[in-house]
Amino acid sequence: MPSLSDSVSVLAGVGPKRVAALKELDIGNINDLLTYFPFRYEDLQAKDPSELTDQAKVTLKGTVAVVPVLTRFGRKKNRLNFRLLIDEHTIIPVTFFNQPWLKDQLEVGAEVVVYGRFDAKRQSLAGMKILASANNAMGSIYPANKSIRQGTIKQLVEAAYDQYSEKIVDLVPEPLRDQYHLLHRREMIHDMHFPADDAAAQAARRTAKFEEFYLFEIRLQIVRQQDHTLHGQPLAYDLTALKAFIDSLPYELTAAQKRVVNEICFDLKRPVHMNRLLQGDVGSGKTVVAAIAMYAAITAGTQAVLMAPTEILAEQHADNLAKLFADFPVNVALLTGATKPAARKTLLPQIANGTVNLIIGTHALIQPEVSYHHLGLAVIDEQHRFGVNQRRALREKGQQPDVLAMTATPIPRTLAITAYGEMDVSVINELPAGRQPIRTTWIRSNQVDSVLREVKAELSTGSQAYVVTPLIEESEAVDMKNAEAIYDRFKAEFEPTYQVGLLHGRMKNDEKNTIMADFKANKFQVLVATTVIEVGVDVPNATLMLIYDADHFGLAQLHQLRGRVGRGQKASACILIADPKNQLAIERMTTMTNSNDGFVLAQKDLELRGPGDILGRKQSGVPDFKVGDPVADLNILSVAQQAAKETVAAPNWDDKDANLPLVAFLSTTAHQNSTMD
Ligand code: ADP
Ligand code: MG
Repeated sequence: MPSLSDSVSVLAGVGPKRVAALKELDIGNINDLLTYFPFRYEDLQAKDPSELTDQAKVTLKGTVAVVPVLTRFGRKKNRLNFRLLIDEHTIIPVTFFNQPWLKDQLEVGAEVVVYGRFDAKRQSLAGMKILASANNAMGSIYPANKSIRQGTIKQLVEAAYDQYSEKIVDLVPEPLRDQYHLLHRREMIHDMHFPADDAAAQAARRTAKFEEFYLFEIRLQIVRQQDHTLHGQPLAYDLTALKAFIDSLPYELTAAQKRVVNEICFDLKRPVHMNRLLQGDVGSGKTVVAAIAMYAAITAGTQAVLMAPTEILAEQHADNLAKLFADFPVNVALLTGATKPAARKTLLPQIANGTVNLIIGTHALIQPEVSYHHLGLAVIDEQHRFGVNQRRALREKGQQPDVLAMTATPIPRTLAITAYGEMDVSVINELPAGRQPIRTTWIRSNQVDSVLREVKAELSTGSQAYVVTPLIEESEAVDMKNAEAIYDRFKAEFEPTYQVGLLHGRMKNDEKNTIMADFKANKFQVLVATTVIEVGVDVPNATLMLIYDADHFGLAQLHQLRGRVGRGQKASACILIADPKNQLAIERMTTMTNSNDGFVLAQKDLELRGPGDILGRKQSGVPDFKVGDPVADLNILSVAQQAAKETVAAPNWDDKDANLPLVAFLSTTAHQNSTMD
């Protein structure tokens, strides 16, 4: 029985070579071909010449007024001229180059439809093609590549539609189609490829976007549902012990922290698997929330791990947590790539037998040699720094531990829905009391001298400063050179009154850690650094940050960097040094000076530069949609998400008649649009 999952090779004229060419366009089966949509249309409807703009590609209908004249010049070049009578007042001269055979198709008095480029000044048409008479349609233009031509794709789509249109059934269930005024799938596919006019094309596109988002969301919701039914371990934590720990903290939790602690603890207790994203702006106090959750897991008799993206950060967490837990029955261990073999050798058995119950580290935590006694909770800090496989590896240590992923990047709706759609989300939406907003200014590089005076003034109050050096894409060697040059300059300027330190990615880890520790201990007052200080580093006495070439960074990244200051009670400042070359970059700089709100900045970044700049270049987790644009079409995306949630939430949804075509379709196209997890 023919079905939309048939390989394209069933079509006439599609042999191994074409199969390979289509594969390059991600077209494997008939459904792929039918949803390989045109990216634009040529308007082939006949127009009135008086309404035409200069150089527009247009279609004109009329009768051939005179015998066409063919002029040859050179061996291969020629020109065909004739006059097209549109109505009694309008005659348009038409010229075709190098298509001499058209002469025979142009009989005087015959009606013809000509597509070409209109010259308004001369009121003439440079002909491109003659259309089959009075063609009232739009010409579809497909993205093509070297191995397969536009016209071939078009023919194949036509053939596929002819042979398979009967097999196209509705995937979006009827009630939703009615509610959102969507077309039937067959109609949508027809009108995407062969619309009668612009309005039909647009209506089809709206339905196509909804369908694409809906199918994507259904898959996410299924994963989420599986997560929730997956047999997780109920962690019976000791509430009294937990309260004692919270009471021991040197500050009162913010209302937002209390709320998310409750959300997390509720999940821990349930026998379902937790997959939760904890979102909170830089400095909102996520670490202590993680500490409370991890302590809960420990009081339930299990182990907890905290995985951080860098050694500096892992070490800082280990120090902080060791202090917080000093009076509690918690055995803290640090495991990173820098852990010495001897220490590692004693540590691994302690992790395996449960003597150590809180393990902090980097990727080292997920190496195969590391096995846990009983892992109850895995916390991932700055989770977008980790790849899919690393996060999965952590999840697969032990019996599906609960997972708490933390991110300081406020997630715009688009990303929350697409990249994190399968996770539950907790948000810390307030900063601890007493924080002062960071004053941000932007200067040009020729004003740096005046800034140095400002730095000195700040240092004279006992504060410290960061100097972030230029970021040169893809080259740590060049970054280091730049950092060293700026380091020399600051040393010459500030020493011996103030001490200057240098930190860059090429240093050995020991070296980096020593430098960070010394800066924290105020052994030097200025730290010149590449972006290695970007995440998480906490030195409350640092109140000034200088960022060189700030226009090379994304907004979300600048916000992260800026978040290294403003962590204590003193007012802090951030100075962006940049000579932006274009309007977009200028807009980014002014946006930074105007907003301290990470959410606003992330949304702006998304609009200006795309998801890669917020969640990391390598894997933003936002799939490539074919028709929908998750940023521009956020409304449709949100509606489709809600609809998908409702579909999957209905009891036995996958047994209902109305959903059967959808369920069948999902089972034949398992891995399209797969997300990070
Ligand atoms: P982030 O969310 O950026 O990881 P941290 O967890 O590093 O933030 O917290 C930033 C600073 O705020 C730390 O020095 C921490 O001790 C402090 N802090 C956390 N919660 C509170 C609170 N409720 N009141 C006061 N200070 C807090
Ligand atoms: Mg943090």
